[in-house]
Amino acid sequence: MSETTKDIEALRNRVLSGEVKAGALVETSVKAAEALNETLNAFLEIDRAGALARAGEIDGRLSLSNRDSASAPALAGIPIAIKDNICVRGMQTSCGSRILGDYHPPYDATVIERLLGAGAVVIGKTNCDEFAMGSSNENSAFGPVRNPWDTARVPGGSSGGSAAAVAAGIVPVALGSDTGGSVRQPASLCGVVGLKPTYGRNSRYGLVAFASSLDQVGIFARSTVDIARVLRITAGRDPRDATTADVPVPDYTAELTNDIKGARLGFPKSLFGEGLDAEVRSSVEAVVDVYRELGTEIVEVELPHAQYSIAVYYIIATAEASSNLARFDGVRYGFRAEDAPELRQMYRKTREEGFGPEVKRRIMLGTYVLSAGYYDAYYRKAQQVRTLLKDDFRKAFESCDAIITPTSPTPAFLIGEKVDNPLAMYLNDIYTVTANLAGVPGLNVPCGLSSNRLPIGFQLLGYYWSESTLLKLADAYETARPFTERPPICAS
Ligand code: GLN
Repeated sequence: MSETTKDIEALRNRVLSGEVKAGALVETSVKAAEALNETLNAFLEIDRAGALARAGEIDGRLSLSNRDSASAPALAGIPIAIKDNICVRGMQTSCGSRILGDYHPPYDATVIERLLGAGAVVIGKTNCDEFAMGSSNENSAFGPVRNPWDTARVPGGSSGGSAAAVAAGIVPVALGSDTGGSVRQPASLCGVVGLKPTYGRNSRYGLVAFASSLDQVGIFARSTVDIARVLRITAGRDPRDATTADVPVPDYTAELTNDIKGARLGFPKSLFGEGLDAEVRSSVEAVVDVYRELGTEIVEVELPHAQYSIAVYYIIATAEASSNLARFDGVRYGFRAEDAPELRQMYRKTREEGFGPEVKRRIMLGTYVLSAGYYDAYYRKAQQVRTLLKDDFRKAFESCDAIITPTSPTPAFLIGEKVDNPLAMYLNDIYTVTANLAGVPGLNVPCGLSSNRLPIGFQLLGYYWSESTLLKLADAYETARPFTERPPICAS
C-alpha cells in the first residue's frame, strides 16, 4: 500500500517521529500524480518544485522545534490537492475554463491559508467542470477526468479531479466546492468520503464564485476521521467572507465516539422511489439496517418540497451564475480575444471564445429567469419554494438527528452517455441540491460496490452546524462496515 493511502494521523506521526521526511512523503504523492495523470487527467497543474520546496521547509522547521504531537502542526507534511477554482498563490486557477486559462491569483483562499498554516503541502490543482458546472467532469475545457474504478466512466462532477486523486491514493485529502452536490456526488462515484459543510462553515474567500448563496468549500478523504481533522482547521468565521458565521468550531475528532445508540435517523421513503437504481436502493437500505443494529432509531420523515428541488436549483444557480460570470470580460483576468479592435466587440469575442457550451447555456438561462418579464414567474417563485424547502428540513429535524438518502441515483455512468442530454445530467443532482438550497450539511459515505465493481455511496443530511453528528454517525458505520476496496487505478 502506498504511503499516501494511509490516514492523516498515521502519516503525520511518521513525519513527526522522523521515520519519513515530509519531503519523501510529498515526493511519493507528486510522483503518483505525475504517473497517473495520463490515465486519469485528474490534475491540471502539478507543482513538483513548489511542493518539494515547501516540504523541505517543514522538515527544517520540525528539526528545529520539538516533534511533540500535541504542539506540532496538525497536518505537518500532509500532501493535499486543490480543485482548480480555489486560489492558491503561485499556482494557476483556471476553473477548468479557457477564459481564465493560466490566471495566477496573487493570494491564497482563506481555507488554503489555514491548511498551509497547519503544515499541509499543496501538490497541485485538480481538474473540474468549467466553473464547477456539471455532474460528470466532461465540461472541463481541458478534457474529462476518468474514474479510477473504470476509466471508461465519469468520476462525477464537478470536483471529479479531487475525488479521483483521493480514490487513486495520490493524496489523502483534497478540497472541492459543492454548489449542488459537486463534492458529495463525485465522492460517491469514486468511493471516498465527501463533506459539504453548513453554508457559512467554511470561508468562500478565494473560491471563484459560481452561485454565491449555494457555494461551499468541501472536503474529500478516505475516512470520516480525516474529514473531521481537516474541517477543524478550515472551518470558522472569516472577516473576509461576511457569510461565515461566528459559530464555535468543535474538536470534531474528539466527538467520534462510536456511541450512536438512541440517535434518530430519518428515512424519507418518498426519495427511494422512481429513478433510483435498484442496486443503489438495496445498498442504502442495507445501510439503514446496519444503523438499526447499531442502536439508532429509524423514523420516517417527509420532505414534501424536495420534488421541486432540481427545478428550483437550476433557476437560482443559473441566475446567480449569470451575474457572477459577468466579471469575465477579457479586461481583468486571464484570456482576451485577439482581433477585436473595439471594446464591446472584445467583450463579446472573449466570452464567445473563452466560455464553453454549458457555461453559455447557464448564462442564458440565468439571464432569462432574471429578466423583467420572467423574474416573478421563475426567480421569485424559486426563492419562495426554497423557503418552503428550508421549512421541510426544520420540521423533519424535529423528529430526527440526521436524514439518510442515496447520494447519486446511479453508480458512475459512461463518458459520453449523458453529455448531449442536459436534463438527464441535471437529474443526477436530485439527492444533493436540497442541502445547498437549505444551507444544511451533507456527507457522502461509501457503502459498497455494484455488481460491476463501481462504488455506491449513501448521504447523511443534518441540521445547521450538525457536522459533528454526521461525522459521528458516519464513523460508527465505517467502524461496523469498513470500506477497504481499492480501485484498479491506484498509486502502488
Ligand atoms: N451538478 C451541479 C451543477 O451542475 C452541481 C455543481 C456543483 O455543485 N458545483 O450545477
